[in-house]
Amino acid sequence: METKVIKIQAENGVFSKAEEEALRLAGENLQQGGLVAFPTETVYGLGGDALNPASSRKIYAAKGRPSDNPLIVHISRLEDIYEIVDTVSEDAIKIAREFWPGPLTMILPKSAKVPYETTGGLDTVAVRMPSHPVARKLIEYGGGYIAAPSANISGKPSPTVAKYVIEDMDGKIDVIIDGGEVGIGLESTIIDLTVTPPEILRPGYITDKMLAEVLGQVDTDVTILHAESGQAPKAPGMKYRHYAPKGELTVVQGAPEAVAAYINSCTTADKQKGYKTGVIGTQEMANVYQADVIKVVGSRQDEESIGRHLYSFLREFDDEQVTRIYSESFASEGFGQAIMNRLLKAAGHNIVRLDAPEV
Ligand code: AMP
Ligand code: MG
Repeated sequence: METKVIKIQAENGVFSKAEEEALRLAGENLQQGGLVAFPTETVYGLGGDALNPASSRKIYAAKGRPSDNPLIVHISRLEDIYEIVDTVSEDAIKIAREFWPGPLTMILPKSAKVPYETTGGLDTVAVRMPSHPVARKLIEYGGGYIAAPSANISGKPSPTVAKYVIEDMDGKIDVIIDGGEVGIGLESTIIDLTVTPPEILRPGYITDKMLAEVLGQVDTDVTILHAESGQAPKAPGMKYRHYAPKGELTVVQGAPEAVAAYINSCTTADKQKGYKTGVIGTQEMANVYQADVIKVVGSRQDEESIGRHLYSFLREFDDEQVTRIYSESFASEGFGQAIMNRLLKAAGHNIVRLDAPEV
């Protein structure tokens, strides 16, 4: 299959005539059962008509994604939630008013309209209204209900720039829309509203505190940061290895100077064994590292910059054939919880705790 790549700048959310027409055609393609990758404010999505079982099957095939890992349905107008959700709770409307359009996904009981192919066999459906202007316009032209997991081959880091969508999806899907670099860089927060109290299944830019301010008590799935809990994550997709670079990634936790010293001793030893080494570090420590490739995610205080760069850096290590990667560890509260959740998954929970008490 020939994949068409189109660039859409949409400066300040204003589309040129040509861009509008390109999006209309891409939307038509979705309505006819095609697949279109597009930017959202979180990561690039791989879109198909969520109400067409054949489209969902094609999404799983293109990603190589296990079919029990359900897809998120993207809408562009709040009222459309009533078509795909069986009972829309008051809580759902409350948080939709507060955080939509934006990086928040809600789990709710599905209506009969949503095929099991889209929900991975579940009676619940994940719904989100993204804020990215290209995503919103495409959803409108695509018929209103677009299933869109991240546009990467299953297991790899989610794409935050079109280059990596092309790398994974060229030849497998109809259209790739290049809308530049995304803003947030990590996938949406997922909250399950079918349980009481509501439970966060995946951390993201919308934090537990922000949700608790609107909903009162909110729980968080214990598996999010602790692989050791021995429990299965409640979002089916969270049990799979994810976001992983090809090289071996180790997260090192402790005081910044001790972490840098530890990482330097590791990279020195690795280099002697012939490995190409890489480090993910913050600006504060950047010039201390001695690895072959050093990626500076931003200042330790600037979590938005860390979130936005993490996946691209993991991909770039692959491009540069780095085989041993070490990362600093970050604060695990607020948006930092989402960063650490993705980083630990990418590392297969391979973490060295320098400040852990001796056993
Ligand atoms: P992605 O589309 O790659 O962002 O992944 C979607 C995530 O949403 C996966 O971790 C899924 O397991 C989760 N998800 C989607 N639908 C549901 C659902 N009905 N119940 C629980 N988790 C869901
Ligand atoms: Mg994904």
